[in-house]
Amino acid sequence: MTEFSLDLNEEQRDLRDWVHGFAAEIVRPAAAEWDAREETPWPVIQEAAKVGLYGFEFIANCWADPTGLSLPLANEELFWGDAGIGMALFGTTLAVAAIYGAGTPEQLVEWVPQCYGDTDRPAVAAFCTTEPEAGSDVAAMRTRARYDEAADEWVLTGQKAYATNGGIAAVHVVTASVEPELGSRGQAAFVVPPGTEGLTATKKLKKLGLRASHTADVFLDDVRVPGRCLLGGRDALRERLDRARSGQRGNSQAAMRTFELSRPTVGAQAIGVARAAYEYALAYAGERVQFGRPIIENQAIAFQLADMRMEIDAARLLVWRAAWMGRNNRPFTAGEGSMSKLKAGEVAVSVTERAVQILGGAGFLREHPVERWYRDAKIYTIFEGTSEIQRLVISRAISGRQIR
Ligand SMILES: Cc1cc2nc3c(=O)[nH]c(=O)nc-3n(C[C@H](O)[C@H](O)[C@H](O)COP(=O)(O)OP(=O)(O)OC[C@H]3O[C@@H](n4cnc5c(N)ncnc54)[C@H](O)[C@@H]3O)c2cc1C
Repeated sequence: MTEFSLDLNEEQRDLRDWVHGFAAEIVRPAAAEWDAREETPWPVIQEAAKVGLYGFEFIANCWADPTGLSLPLANEELFWGDAGIGMALFGTTLAVAAIYGAGTPEQLVEWVPQCYGDTDRPAVAAFCTTEPEAGSDVAAMRTRARYDEAADEWVLTGQKAYATNGGIAAVHVVTASVEPELGSRGQAAFVVPPGTEGLTATKKLKKLGLRASHTADVFLDDVRVPGRCLLGGRDALRERLDRARSGQRGNSQAAMRTFELSRPTVGAQAIGVARAAYEYALAYAGERVQFGRPIIENQAIAFQLADMRMEIDAARLLVWRAAWMGRNNRPFTAGEGSMSKLKAGEVAVSVTERAVQILGGAGFLREHPVERWYRDAKIYTIFEGTSEIQRLVISRAISGRQIR
């Protein structure tokens, strides 16, 4: 018998409530301070590590959920608490996911624990792929990886832009071009171990939002890493390059699938931000009295809130669908991963903007968190593929054409 249910199971409800508790008690009360300080919230990371919310075991447990919903559930709750602190905690996952996705089991065992550090002294990791001249156009990557056969070392040279945790990370995972003629199919990912010479970074970049999360440009000046730092190993790389040279498809499709798989998680973060703003605006509209009645008793306000709620729920359903499809190896024939991130990102922007409007002048002040949520929401139409790039993926998937 085929069963259908949108009910969460007990484990998922427990996970959601547990992460929500941490977000409400630890993250949200600290949010304004770390936003203003624009610094990495190490004490919060340490607290998260202590309770088991920061570390590979937590992520591995989420990945193990056969419905795929655990990761979006945890992300929505954590980012409901605060997106800047959320990203300070989840930025490491980008690098870990790259090691998990492209690395061998030995590489996973060697590097993932170093990404997180230990409970007393947690570490963070960075995934560095964007470059000054290669943002949306990943194939334009100029960072080069050259193999020094005699030393069994890879030599990395180039510059990376906007890396979350860049320069403060223990482990940097860096993508580089091994065969530039092959475009994105000639690229590979490398682990740069802690303390490696030649890797430097700018100071933390000043941002509109997500200010607790560290973002920096990273420079690679003849950075030498041991041969074993090539994720997946040399044989797998050789096979991949041979396939690409002979014009076979598959490799770039695999890369595309990896992106599509991570998008529902990012969408869930955007929903967390949107939901925070919606809940706050709903409560405010019930209390704020003008013209002798709470402002929510005006249709102009109540209908806004109705739309905000509907849009959040619609986005969440797209996120859950894509997360379920990804976990159960269903092909994304219509760019469903992109759909989920696109919708959630745009909902976060519109819902937080409406929340500011519902609060009126109060919404513009730092005294209320909606101005921060409004600033934070905007990143979700930009990183992990801009809204335009998501539309490209969807339109190509549904049309089978090379839409430009
Ligand atoms: C806070 C923050 C954290 C980040 N963290 C990381 C990280 O950890 N690791 C990492 O590697 N990167 C990271 N990034 C980089 C991020 O992924 C890129 O900024 C993003 O992919 C867009 O690239 P870009 O900024 O170069 O914009 P561009 O590619 O220059 O795009 C500029 C504009 O042109 C549009 N555009 C481009 N091409 C097309 C097209 N073909 N059709 C239509 N429109 C198009 C875009 O949608 C956008 O609106 C981060 C960025 C920020 C701001």
